[in-house]
Amino acid sequence: MSSASTDATPPTRGEAPKSAASVSNFIRQIIDADLASGKHQGIVTRFPPEPNGYLHIGHAKSICLNFGLARDYGGVCHLRFDDTNPVKEEVEYEESIKEMVEWLGFPFRDKLFYASDYFDTLYAFAEHFIERGLAYVDSQSGDEIRARRGTLTEPGIDSPYRNRSVEESLHLFDEMKRGLHADGAHVLRLKIDMASPNMNLRDPAIYRIRHVEHHRTGNRWCVYPLYDYTHCISDALERITHSLCTLEFEAHRPLYDWVLERLVESGKLPAPNPQQIEFARLNLSYTVMSKRKLLELVERGYVDGWDDPRFWTLAGLRRRGYTPASIRLFAERAGVSKAHQWIDMGDLERALRDDLDAVAARAMAVLDPIRVVIENYPEGHSEECSAPVHPHDESRGRRSFRFCREVFIERDDFMEHPVKGFFRLVPGGEVRLRYAYIIKCERIEKDAAGNITTIYATYDPATKSGTGGRNVKGAIHWVGRIDGVEAEVRLYDRLFQVENPDAGEGDYKDYLNPNSLTIVRAWLEPSLAKAEVGQSFQFERNGYFTPDCKLSAAGALVFNRAVTLKDGWKPA
Ligand code: ATP
Ligand code: MG
Repeated sequence: MSSASTDATPPTRGEAPKSAASVSNFIRQIIDADLASGKHQGIVTRFPPEPNGYLHIGHAKSICLNFGLARDYGGVCHLRFDDTNPVKEEVEYEESIKEMVEWLGFPFRDKLFYASDYFDTLYAFAEHFIERGLAYVDSQSGDEIRARRGTLTEPGIDSPYRNRSVEESLHLFDEMKRGLHADGAHVLRLKIDMASPNMNLRDPAIYRIRHVEHHRTGNRWCVYPLYDYTHCISDALERITHSLCTLEFEAHRPLYDWVLERLVESGKLPAPNPQQIEFARLNLSYTVMSKRKLLELVERGYVDGWDDPRFWTLAGLRRRGYTPASIRLFAERAGVSKAHQWIDMGDLERALRDDLDAVAARAMAVLDPIRVVIENYPEGHSEECSAPVHPHDESRGRRSFRFCREVFIERDDFMEHPVKGFFRLVPGGEVRLRYAYIIKCERIEKDAAGNITTIYATYDPATKSGTGGRNVKGAIHWVGRIDGVEAEVRLYDRLFQVENPDAGEGDYKDYLNPNSLTIVRAWLEPSLAKAEVGQSFQFERNGYFTPDCKLSAAGALVFNRAVTLKDGWKPA
């Protein structure tokens, strides 16, 4: 963790707060200098996802960085779909990406762009490169091109088609576009330097033939531009000032600049060019980030869809109960750096606790209920007890629930043979039921297998909470049978058992945690019956919970535990 800062004021839902204490970093220093020198009057950034998967927590870092900088500098951030590969892309992904960026609190409205909208321009620029002798159609096979690419220590070998005439290349490129050639028959390559020590400059391919329908342009094109060529030109066309990307693109920067410099030279694009700046991608312990692996986990049913609450996709985190503010806080605390970054899952969980502590309504819920019968409390009788909705904010009012003869407490709040220092309920001992009375355990009843089924107790009528009576050391939460509601509660553990599932001897799937989901039948205080999707609650002593957006839809009451109250996680 490089540094920490917190959002002082809780944001209204769906809107990012002004970051009061955005920590300076090397990217901000570059921007400050560019504004001071007059190179730029304002900043324009972009988040450029490829619509070939669901967004995950790593993308959130990039979103928060790009949209956060634009917000802090009074600039603009574009959401641009980098949709140049028609084979892997789908509308479903696109829709979910838009939804999640907005959910994170970054409205993009009129700032939505598509690389596919630039296909005409990209094609015209490619012809321009051919005309200037800076690109040629190569008719080698993919294998031949790869074989001649050279290695890090050996230069590549020129293609036999490298000196093809401008006319011939233009003619072939036109035929490629008109669909007269099969996939793989030709590619268009920039003519840079086959001996460059930077492999990316060894005549990179910029167009290939793909007889595939594109989800936005249909069958209009059968040649598609490649990433490196498309990305820099898209940035320049949108007048992006600072193009932030992850470190693996560092070696692509010379190509990014090469393409743009030539287009500026010939007046096709205005100066100054966008500046590519690399930062370290976020790695989160106990997860894998590769899109291929995420897809495999979904397709093979290791998780229950893209929004499985155990997943670190944004859809999964949202369903689990993560708030947009907590993810922004996490991203801000993670900071930006040039050094490879591993962040502990505990930091993500801490950010959620830090966000929710101040805002989540409190409630009592018993997750592993054991029945307590209070024998000296009259049958059929009950009385109101109440507790603050939030302990530090009286203005939020009180919630009420009823004390009665039969209540539920947590099984582990009772010990038949107590260990030293156990201050909760024990045979013959007393404990306070929070917001209600002190009770004393008189005897217990067990089933044939020896499990305790009922605790018989008495209460002391002179000890009602708030009346100034005597107190005891232990206080536990409870739910009364008379107005409590039964519900399914889902408790999650980490999906993987090891910090870095990619680093082990075996396949990453060997490290899946078989106990990552536990489903219990719980008793909840009555205020929770009206809980709505999107609301967060602190179940006293048990953690933060939210109604499951999918399972609650049919009218059932199902809660997910987003995170425990304390960081008690230990490897299994
Ligand atoms: P791929 O390009 O292999 O399909 P990707 O994870 O890079 O996968 P993109 O859709 O290209 O997915 O990502 C969109 C943006 O999010 C890119 O600018 C990328 O650099 C950024 N990004 C992706 N993963 C991370 C991460 N783990 N940390 C920070 N930024 C990330
Ligand atoms: Mg990418």
